[in-house]
Amino acid sequence: MSLIVTGTIGIDTVVTPNGHGEKILGGSCTYFAAAANFYGPVRLVAAVGGDFPAEFLGTLGHFRGIDLHGLEVRKNSKTFAWGGKYHADMNTRDTLFTELGVLAEAPPKVPALYADSTIVFLANTHPGVQLGFLDQLPKRVFTVADTMDLWINIAKDELKALLKRVDGLVLNFDEAELFTGKSNPVTAGRHMLDMGPKFVVIKKGEHGALLVHRDGIAAVPAYPTENVVDPTGCGDTFAGGMMGSIAATSPSDGAAAGSYDSVRRALVHGTIIASFNIEAFSLDRLKTLDKKTLDARYAEYAAMMRV
Ligand code: AMP
Repeated sequence: MSLIVTGTIGIDTVVTPNGHGEKILGGSCTYFAAAANFYGPVRLVAAVGGDFPAEFLGTLGHFRGIDLHGLEVRKNSKTFAWGGKYHADMNTRDTLFTELGVLAEAPPKVPALYADSTIVFLANTHPGVQLGFLDQLPKRVFTVADTMDLWINIAKDELKALLKRVDGLVLNFDEAELFTGKSNPVTAGRHMLDMGPKFVVIKKGEHGALLVHRDGIAAVPAYPTENVVDPTGCGDTFAGGMMGSIAATSPSDGAAAGSYDSVRRALVHGTIIASFNIEAFSLDRLKTLDKKTLDARYAEYAAMMRV
């Protein structure tokens, strides 16, 4: 067992031009873990409140690779809740509300059982919580963090401190622009490399993802799809595919895990699993996905990219 994630588990309300999901299972580490589960086991550390529906616990349990020993259910607290509404192009969205709930309390602790984790993903949550998580993982060899506009706006100094301690950062293009003030993604990526990490992955929705690594640059197009229902969690499932595939190939060698070739290949796995997530609300598509269908789309994409 090597891969561990912390982040949010949320009750989401999502409005897209194609539909509407009210109080559905979401959260950054929920989507991440569901995606990473297709590549191997993943340890989840997160907290929910007493209002967390039993049905959602059942959904998490459906993904056999997700280890839930690190899930804290706090009877007298409220689960993190988030609402978002997508614009007509589905590439951009407005946050309608964010109710921090358990996120405003002490962060969940890493169980002793997980202390030997080597590959670490810090899904979207407060950068202070992300920093505290790292301190509890002495055996880690490879660490990647995600962030988002809220934290760039309210916790920029902690985010900068975090960048000094991670191998990689994953974020959306508009967040990279907000963070660095640079409107060219390559320039923004290089600017962030100067703050500490070995690589930065800048996601651009339907326009794919850009890797800016100390050893080179790579652009990975999105899988072309017509079946766009709900993009929520695509960033997290992308990260789950990316980190899950890295943990499966380099579970204990940080240099191999973070090499240009390793991360570039991992971006393709992230791209493919995210293309399934977009086909339904919540984890509905990942719940019915099987490895054969996932591998077939990967092969189709690889053939499409061959020149
Ligand atoms: P994504 O579409 O990949 O950005 O992920 C959306 C998920 O992140 C939703 O399911 C939300 O519950 C969760 N989320 C929204 N805002 C935040 C935030 N500020 N910090 C952590 N998680 C968040």
